[in-house]
Amino acid sequence: MSNQKDYREYLERQEELKSANMGHYFYDQYKRFVEPFKLYGNVYYVGDSWVCAYIIDTGEGLLLLDAGNCGAAEMMIHSIWSAGFNPADIKWIVLSHGHVDHIGAVNFLRNMFGCKVYLGEPDARMFEEMPELSYIQQSPDIMQSLFAPDVLINDGDVIKFGNIEISFYLVPGHTLGTIACFFDICDEEQGTKRAGYFGGFGFNTLTKEYLTEIGDALFSHRELFLNSLKKVRDQKVEVFLANHTINNQTVEKRELMKKAPGYNPFVNSQSWAEYLDVKRDAFIEFMNDPGNS
Ligand SMILES: [Zn+2]
Repeated sequence: MSNQKDYREYLERQEELKSANMGHYFYDQYKRFVEPFKLYGNVYYVGDSWVCAYIIDTGEGLLLLDAGNCGAAEMMIHSIWSAGFNPADIKWIVLSHGHVDHIGAVNFLRNMFGCKVYLGEPDARMFEEMPELSYIQQSPDIMQSLFAPDVLINDGDVIKFGNIEISFYLVPGHTLGTIACFFDICDEEQGTKRAGYFGGFGFNTLTKEYLTEIGDALFSHRELFLNSLKKVRDQKVEVFLANHTINNQTVEKRELMKKAPGYNPFVNSQSWAEYLDVKRDAFIEFMNDPGNS
């Protein structure tokens, strides 16, 4: 035993984790801090500049839509306070899917405040049967652990949270338990708008290499993903909530809001269908690329 050797190994582990596959996503998270803001009505942005998260004030408790990156829980707690809310008032956490970058604050918030966690049923099964597909091993936070959700979301579920009613669909592809959801956002001055959330657009889990590894030899997940986009494309959505900021330039839109008070670029009844079409076309191109096909 040698303390010097242990310390050297600790430094080496840090380097190893930083240079691992997704390592850079978990370091210097404060550099991705975004000042929280009211997005529309009772929906507030509390995510960072990479991964989105929202507080929805249901009138009878708060709902947290996605729980941020592993290692970013403290930053999210700060954001929730800064937005004018008490994290202890979070009654429900709804997760878009079971990947490491959306579950960061779950254990802390549930253990502290007893909030109920909702996750698509297939991803709850993934946590049990193939936990490695959550990518939790990519996070340098060895204290993090997966969890069994309190409520499993199934296709077609309609669930009430305070005075908000959310319609859920399973949109398998990015993971099998990825959800899409739709609900009304209330704004006393500007009226009620329909919000839409698509919980996972990434193609990283749709490469032939990945699908072969998980035993999908026929690459059927690719068809599932295209069908999922089609399934919810014609939903009425006036406020498209991004899953990652890149989906709708969340940070840039926030800047526009600041420059032109009264203008809300998040209100747009075309952007949902347009973006789902963009992803469909990009995915077809991705499949036609010999590197991925
Ligand atoms: Zn993901």
